[in-house]
Amino acid sequence: MKSKYTHVLTLIAAIAAFLPVMAVDFLLDSYVRVRERAVLQGTADAVAARVQATVYDAIGSLRHILADSASLCTPGFITSVHHQMERSLYLKQVLVENYDGVQYCDALGKQVQYTPLTKPFSIPSQTETIEVVRFADLAAPFIKVTQGFGQSRKVSSFVPVVAAEAASLLSGLKPASVVRVALSDGTAMVTAGDAAGYDARGTTEFVSVESFAGALPIRITAAVPFAIVRADYADLDTSFTIISSLMSAAFLILALQYVRRSDLPAFDLERAIKAGEIRPYYQPVINLRTGGLAGCEVLARWEKKSGEVVSPGAFIEYAEVTGLAIPMTVSLMQQARDDLSDLCRDMPDLKVSINLFEGHFRDGNVVEDVHTIFSGSTISFRQLVFELTERQPMDRMAAAQSVIAGLHAMGCRIAMDDAGTGHSNLAYLQPLGIDVVKIDRIFVDMIKPGLTQVPVLDGLLSMARDLGTEIVAEGVENEEQAVYLRSHGVMLAQGYLFAPPLKGAAFRELALALNKPPAPAALPKAAA
Ligand code: C2E
Ligand code: CA
Ligand code: CA
Repeated sequence: MKSKYTHVLTLIAAIAAFLPVMAVDFLLDSYVRVRERAVLQGTADAVAARVQATVYDAIGSLRHILADSASLCTPGFITSVHHQMERSLYLKQVLVENYDGVQYCDALGKQVQYTPLTKPFSIPSQTETIEVVRFADLAAPFIKVTQGFGQSRKVSSFVPVVAAEAASLLSGLKPASVVRVALSDGTAMVTAGDAAGYDARGTTEFVSVESFAGALPIRITAAVPFAIVRADYADLDTSFTIISSLMSAAFLILALQYVRRSDLPAFDLERAIKAGEIRPYYQPVINLRTGGLAGCEVLARWEKKSGEVVSPGAFIEYAEVTGLAIPMTVSLMQQARDDLSDLCRDMPDLKVSINLFEGHFRDGNVVEDVHTIFSGSTISFRQLVFELTERQPMDRMAAAQSVIAGLHAMGCRIAMDDAGTGHSNLAYLQPLGIDVVKIDRIFVDMIKPGLTQVPVLDGLLSMARDLGTEIVAEGVENEEQAVYLRSHGVMLAQGYLFAPPLKGAAFRELALALNKPPAPAALPKAAA
């Protein structure tokens, strides 16, 4: 159904309108992450390069010393060690010991105090191993690089993991950043910054990157809380949000205007009723005997400002479901009263038929509305017919009966619309107090040239006659149908053969022409 479609469209438009606002946050978040990652990566790579340079310095020094000396701990060996220590930026000690930890000699000529903090790791494609140690009484950890010598000796060089203060690793980073140098098994060696927060909530709340010190089993992590870096973009966020809100608003207005302008009825019907865009058209009901005008049926049309005229098929169902059919009917009755008051005063037998729907019988106010609108007008209640359709089941018989009784009490009459198409058979409707039966056009359509009997239609007509109701045939489109109906006792008919639903002025003109004596015959003499 079109109306559901409109709701979905409106919803999509409303959601889509807020995409720019949501997108600002998303885009800015992503931008901040990418940017900050690049900054952190620069720092982590620099730290990795420094650590790598330090360790390779220790390896290089060790190799020079061993290349210079054929034996260990000789004066020549010690000289070579001193030479290397002067040359190197990082080398702090060189030690010769055996595998049981017995020390033979060192650079400074005293017992070397150190405690291993890890097991030795091998370096891929090198003969040296490295381990992390606590050196002398220094708090910062050292790396001990070791090379075997002969069967029982080993020579080691000692360098700090980070040559400067740990805090220097944070230079150029935002407050609350963390930089950590760790072995690749995760053992932390040096951590700068508040590691506790990072260890607790690292992956979700921090932007973090990693870098590796070449082939060494050493990993550098740099991280910063996302909230801290995001806060730096608060100004940008505000201006972007303002811009995108304006875009959203503009988009929403455009979308709503589109839905409003498009010919989707649901959105606009309430306004259209208030603005009087739902207009009554009048389809003549013709007396088949005299060819004169017996009355009319009020049929709704939506006359758009654009000049387009929309048939009720596009909006009636929506009007009924939403209850808008009730104010719509009130408006139609008021307009019909204004359009037809002169005509009805001059033709007191003219009948005006108004369509009701099932909701009118639940609402109950319809009796009062009819009274308010027509009392004091030149249209008498006797001239009003209210059509209720058999298409929808009348599930509230009692309520329907009281409304019908109210309308009857004023002198109005009740017609059963679309008779034969609905759920109930005609006899079942008798207790409702039906005065008129309108035979649906599907039965009229069964009348084909040359037929003298149309069993279904004939059955329906005789049932209606048994109930003592007046009969109106709907949808009469050709002369054969009119002739057949008249010869089967049907007096009243409406259909395109006579006239389509007409605007008020056109209908008044036709009415005056038809009822001007002598009335022009609507049917050929031969058929009478
Ligand atoms: P309905 O009450 O059965 O109205 C008769 C419909 O048949 C009208 O369609 C009319 O234009 C059309 N019609 C008239 N003569 C012929 C004909 O010779 N051949 C054919 N094929 N059709 C013919 P319309 O005006 O489009 O209305 C459609 C339906 O919308 C109505 O059927 C009625 O159920 C509903 N409707 C229209 N106006 C109102 C209203 O004011 N209130 C309510 N509740 N329903 C309305
Ligand atoms: Ca009708
Ligand atoms: Ca009908």
